[in-house]
Amino acid sequence: MFGLTLPELEIELSDLPKFRAKQIAAWIYQRGATSFSEMTDLSKNLRADLEKKFLIQTPQLLTKQISDDKLTTKFLLKFSDGAAVETVLMRQDYGNSVCISSQVGCMMGCKFCASTLKGLERNLTAGEMLGEIIFVNNFLAQENQKVDTLVVMGTGEPLTNFDNLIKMLRLLHENYSLGLSYRKVTISTCGIVPAIYKLIEENIPVTLSISLHAPTDNLRSAIMPINSAFGIQKVLQAGNDYATKTGRRVTYEYILLGGVNDTEEHARQLSKILSGQLANVNLIPVNPVDERNFRRPTNKSVKKFFHFLNTHGIAATIRREMGAGIDAACGQLRSKFIENA
Ligand code: SAH
Repeated sequence: MFGLTLPELEIELSDLPKFRAKQIAAWIYQRGATSFSEMTDLSKNLRADLEKKFLIQTPQLLTKQISDDKLTTKFLLKFSDGAAVETVLMRQDYGNSVCISSQVGCMMGCKFCASTLKGLERNLTAGEMLGEIIFVNNFLAQENQKVDTLVVMGTGEPLTNFDNLIKMLRLLHENYSLGLSYRKVTISTCGIVPAIYKLIEENIPVTLSISLHAPTDNLRSAIMPINSAFGIQKVLQAGNDYATKTGRRVTYEYILLGGVNDTEEHARQLSKILSGQLANVNLIPVNPVDERNFRRPTNKSVKKFFHFLNTHGIAATIRREMGAGIDAACGQLRSKFIENA
């Protein structure tokens, strides 16, 4: 029953007066209940009856890691079929940000990423993705805090799990759940062009973040196989259309891979292809993954790259490194846990 909208809950509970659905929605989405027995404003008989008829399926905590500076907590959460995903809480200056996974594993095959090493197991349902967020919200409630922003930037390609993603976002936005504004949500994609246009049609003003990572098709195809389906020109066109239609500036993510895409020439090419776009660039020094052969860029090359963009008309930021020392790269905690199991 977790993951149902209020109208869907009303249908499931059609034997009961309508207000019961609202009450139960508030319990599971706002008040942290994971069983009917906790719903103390329902009679004992009703609670027992509901317990027999329905399941509230919320993710279970397998393990968690806290970074040395205590700002990042990474949770490994398990769903009812045993599948596990990573969910990360980042305590930022502007509030508590949660980063969720959208799939179990990933089929995109990006060469620098740990999430895709074993391919895609399955999509997450809307209720499972919402479950990740509510889990962290409940965790924060113990400190009288809450989730303030959401990034869909964990394991998986959210735009290939489109319908579940949209259902989750709409549910998250409802007043009977977290009431989170769409402006507080960022979706990260490797550039599934048709789905970007579908997202425009949904009319939900979320921020779009596009993983670009290279300024030429040759290089991008070498590190991101999806580029052979949707090349840079099409991706940038879609990004530009997204920005124009929604009025929301698009962020281009650019992983800096030492010796691969981090020279001044790459910065020059990048500034050229992005000139005139309503966009900014987020530079991410790669988190090396054991199974992959990429190395961190030097601090000097990161600074030079950043400086080049900013002095050539491209607004750039360097991603603040969060979670050092806790298997911070996407998918690392999960893959280690599975290996050791
Ligand atoms: N599939 C989506 C969302 C998941 S990846 C996408 O491609 O955007 C989220 C971000 O983490 C992407 O920008 C991705 O390129 C980045 N990422 C993946 N592996 C990384 C690593 N080893 N170090 C740093 N960033 C990484």
